[in-house]
Amino acid sequence: MPAVHTVLVVGSGLAGTAAAIHLADHGVTVDLIEIKPDIAAIGSGITLQGNALRELRKLGVWEAVQANGYSYDSLGLRAPNPDGTLLAYQSDEAGRWDVYVQRLADGRRTIVSTNGGDLPSWTPDGSSIVFRAGSSLLRAQVQADTLTVRAAERVGEAGTARPIGIAPDGRVLLDRGSVDEQTTAVIALNWEQEIRRLLGPPSARMPR
Ligand SMILES: Cc1cc2nc3c(=O)[nH]c(=O)nc-3n(C[C@H](O)[C@H](O)[C@H](O)COP(=O)(O)OP(=O)(O)OC[C@H]3O[C@@H](n4cnc5c(N)ncnc54)[C@H](O)[C@@H]3O)c2cc1C
Repeated sequence: MPAVHTVLVVGSGLAGTAAAIHLADHGVTVDLIEIKPDIAAIGSGITLQGNALRELRKLGVWEAVQANGYSYDSLGLRAPNPDGTLLAYQSDEAGRWDVYVQRLADGRRTIVSTNGGDLPSWTPDGSSIVFRAGSSLLRAQVQADTLTVRAAERVGEAGTARPIGIAPDGRVLLDRGSVDEQTTAVIALNWEQEIRRLLGPPSARMPR
C-alpha cells in the first residue's frame, strides 16, 4: 500500500505526466492539472537519448515512439528544413563526417557532401544546405520534391570556426570561440559594494 493516497501533479509536461502515470500505477489517485489549454510539442522530442527512451519504455509507449521516430546507428547532428519535411544531418557512418539529406515522409536520403562535410544548416528559405568542408563553407541546393542535390559551391571561408546559423540575407553566422583567452582572474572581496560602485546609484525613475 502506498503511504499517500491522493496526489496533485501540477504541470503536464514530460515530468508531470510520467510522475502521474507511475503514481497511478502504484495505486495512487492522481489529479494532473495543466495551465495551458493544449499540449505543445515545441522543444521536446527532437533528439531522445538512452535514458529518455528507457523511461518511455517503462511508461509503455516505446513501441509507438519507435514507430513514429527515426533512429540512427551513427553519431549525427541534424537540422530540419523550415517546413519540417527534410532533415539535414552529418554522419560518420562511412568513416568520415559527411552531410546527408533525408526526406522524413519516406526515409529516402541522399548525400550532400562529396568530399566530407559537417555542421549543416538550412538557408532560411529552405532551398539550400550550407555546411563546412575542411576550412571552406559550401552551399548545396536541394530540390525537395525529387530529393536531388546540386553540386555544392564554395560560399566562404570558415577557418576553424563553426557555422551556427544563416541570416535571411544569406550571411553565415560563425562561432569563432573565445577570441581573447582570459588568463587573469579578478577576486572582489566586497563584491556587493564593488557592484554598487560600478553601477552607480539607482535611477530615481526605476520602479521599486
Ligand atoms: C528549444 C528546446 C529544445 C529542446 N530539445 C530537446 C531535445 O532535443 N531532446 C530532449 O530530450 N529535450 C529537449 N529539450 C528539453 C525538454 O523540452 C525538457 O527537458 C522537458 O520538456 C522538460 O519537461 P518538464 O515536464 O520538466 O517541463 P515542461 O515540459 O516545461 O512542463 C511543465 C508544464 O507545467 C505547466 N505549468 C507551469 N506552471 C503551471 C501552473 N502553475 N499550473 C499548471 N500547469 C503549469 C507548463 O505549462 C508545462 O506544460 C528542449 C527544450 C527546449 C526549450
